[in-house]
This record gives sequence, structure tokens and C-alpha cells, in this order.
Amino acid sequence: MKVIRQTVKFDKKLLDKNAVKVIDTIHKAGFEVYLVGGCVRDLLLGLRPKDFDVATNAKPEQVHKLFKRSRLIGRRFRLVHVMFSARNFIEVATFRSGKVQTAKSGVIVRDNCYGNIEDDVIRRDFNINALYYDIKKHQVIDYVGGLIDISNKEIHMIGEPTLRFEQDPVRMIRAVRFQSKLSAKLSPEIHASILNQAHLLSHVSPARLYEECIKLFHNEYAFEVFESLEKYGLLQCLFKQTHKNSFIKKALLNTSARIKQNKPVTPAFLFAVFLWQAQNERFIVIKKKQKSFYLAMAKASEEVIITQIQQVSLPKWLTARIKDIWMMQSKLEKMHPKKVQELLDNPRFRMAYDFLLLRSKSINPELLETAKFWTKVQN
Ligand code: ATP
Ligand code: MG
Repeated sequence: MKVIRQTVKFDKKLLDKNAVKVIDTIHKAGFEVYLVGGCVRDLLLGLRPKDFDVATNAKPEQVHKLFKRSRLIGRRFRLVHVMFSARNFIEVATFRSGKVQTAKSGVIVRDNCYGNIEDDVIRRDFNINALYYDIKKHQVIDYVGGLIDISNKEIHMIGEPTLRFEQDPVRMIRAVRFQSKLSAKLSPEIHASILNQAHLLSHVSPARLYEECIKLFHNEYAFEVFESLEKYGLLQCLFKQTHKNSFIKKALLNTSARIKQNKPVTPAFLFAVFLWQAQNERFIVIKKKQKSFYLAMAKASEEVIITQIQQVSLPKWLTARIKDIWMMQSKLEKMHPKKVQELLDNPRFRMAYDFLLLRSKSINPELLETAKFWTKVQN
């Protein structure tokens, strides 16, 4: 394979101190070791990387032995987490080959064959994600043309998109996310393959998709991602009960604005927004037979959530919060004088109020006065 080595000096302040420590230790023990993947891509683009991943030719057991506070994890592929605190760790992966054992469906079941850096390159998803950085030599190592793609803002697949998406359909939503994140263009081959193969996403385990969905929407370009997912037919494999409306648009733009301002966001809020319309429709049907408003609400909520978790699993605490937000809407709408204080004291008030406010500014303009009332009384 042809290799390009380009000298790039990243500002030390941009590099994660713990990642540098890990690399130093592995390097001193005589192994080859690099920063790899998304962090190199983001550094080159002048973005702050979310996490710093390390790749080495040392075997997981050898890495584990070098760090007292480390643990071996993963079944499908073994990795080492070097711990710096309960939440803060650096992931170290051993170079492995693209050779994979696949099931009949084409899905990868095992890919733990170790290899060299060239093998490691071709198992990665996109050219832009297959760059290695040697922090000692200040060199970016590029086997696939990732540097050119970064400067041209283009996303090309390593290998044949049809095959690589078959092996792991999650790569399709990664492509869509990186397209928005980097304002980049997907290669025509990727574009065509996703249009053809979007349906494969429904074979991915709901548990894995939960994590991926948070990455899709908790960012500064969430609405754009939503629209692309819909355009490619991927959205219906994640949220088949969800269809774009002005409320969803407002909520996604609002989430992005909060992230820009470093305000906290919770996935419960967005999921509640995504499923609100379906919940309302279910409620109308159920209410015809069920006299009690609350029982009908509870039943509609439960049914919509059960349908959802067949696609993307949601933890129990999160579905409980979604139901709270929904249940509180009618209480807020009533503005019952005796209940005002009780509602203000409810720990979920803030979220339910934000939800009502966005409804009033989108699908329910008749609630503008109600929203004003709640804005006033909480101050
Ligand atoms: P970000 O951290 O911004 O989400 P990233 O590219 O760092 O983006 P990670 O999930 O952290 O994404 O993965 C790190 C690297 O691992 C990627 O850059 C890519 O090289 C490789 N990778 C991740 N997921 C896949 C996949 N499904 N198929 C092939 N390679 C992958
Ligand atoms: Mg990353």
C-alpha cells in the first residue's frame, strides 16, 4: 500500500493529556503506537475531538500489563481501557485485520484477528476515519487518501460500500452523521448504496442503536441529520412512528442551541418529542373505549413505547421520564389554580414546561397564552 506521511504539529493543548501519557508508556515499552480515527480527523479540521483513541501493535494482554489501572474489555473484539477515573479512560486497540467471520446475512460475528497497521487501516469505515498520528514524529500517516478527503470535504468508503454496509449497517448512519458534522459530501457510491440498503439497518440490535441515536441527535447539526435520515429511508428503521413536523424541527434546533451554549440536554426530551404525535393518535383511538383520561393516556404511552423499543431500546429510567413529560402536558394545559404550586415543585416541571413551550411555538399555537402563564408563574 502507498503511504503518505505528512508532518503536522498539533498544538499540545489540543491533545488529551491522558492519551499522551498512554502513548508514551506503550512507546517506551518498544511498541508501535498512534492516535487514530475520529480524533485525528477532528484535530485536522480544527474541531475539539470527543474522545482520543489509541492503536498499537501490542497485544491487549501486553497493554494491560503496562498499566496498573487498566482492564480488558469486549468479546467481539478485545480492547484495553486505561482508567484515569471512573468515567475517564483511554481506549487502546490492537491493530487487527479486516478479515471477518460473517453470518449468512453478511453481518460480522467475529473480527478479532490481529494484524499490522495496514490491516488495521482497511477495517475502518471511511478514508477520513483511517488516519494515524505519530505524536513523537508529529506525522500523520495516510494509506487511503484521508488527508485529501478532509481538505476536499468528501467522504469515501474504504472498500466497496455495498459490502461494507452489509457487514455493518450502522456505518450508514455514521456516514450521514459525518456528512453533516463536517459539511462534507458523500461519494456517489455511498449515496447510492444507502438508498438501496437502508432497510438493513432494521437488523441491528436495538441496544446498539440507542447509543448511536444519542450521537445522531445530541449535537449542533441535529436537524440536518434528521432530514438526511428521512431522505435516505433510514429514519423509519429507527423511529417508524416518527414523521417530520414543525415541533420536531423546533426541538432539534433547540437541542443544538443548548449544546452550543453548554446547557445540559437529555435524550428523554427528544424521544418524547419524536413520539408525541404517535402517542396522541393512539390516545384518540383508545379514549373511545376507555372512559378514564389517565388510563387512556397511560395505555397509549405504553403502546407507543413498546413499539419504539423494538427498533431502538430505551432504558427504563428514560421511558419513565418520557411518560412523565406527556402526562404533565394536560395538567399544565388546565392551569388549575390549586395545582399550580404542586406542578412547579414537580422535579419534571422544567422539562414538561419546555415541551409545552415548544408545542405552543409550533403545532399548538392555541397554547401560547398557557405557555406565557407558566413562564410568568415560575419567576
Ligand atoms: P465521533 O467520536 O465523532 O463519533 P469517531 O470516528 O471517532 O467519531 P468512534 O465511534 O469514536 O467514531 O470510532 C473511532 C474509530 O473507529 C472511527 O474513526 C473508525 O476508524 C472506527 N470505527 C468506528 N465504528 C466503526 C464501524 N462501524 N466500522 C468500521 N470502523 C469503525
Ligand atoms: Mg471518537
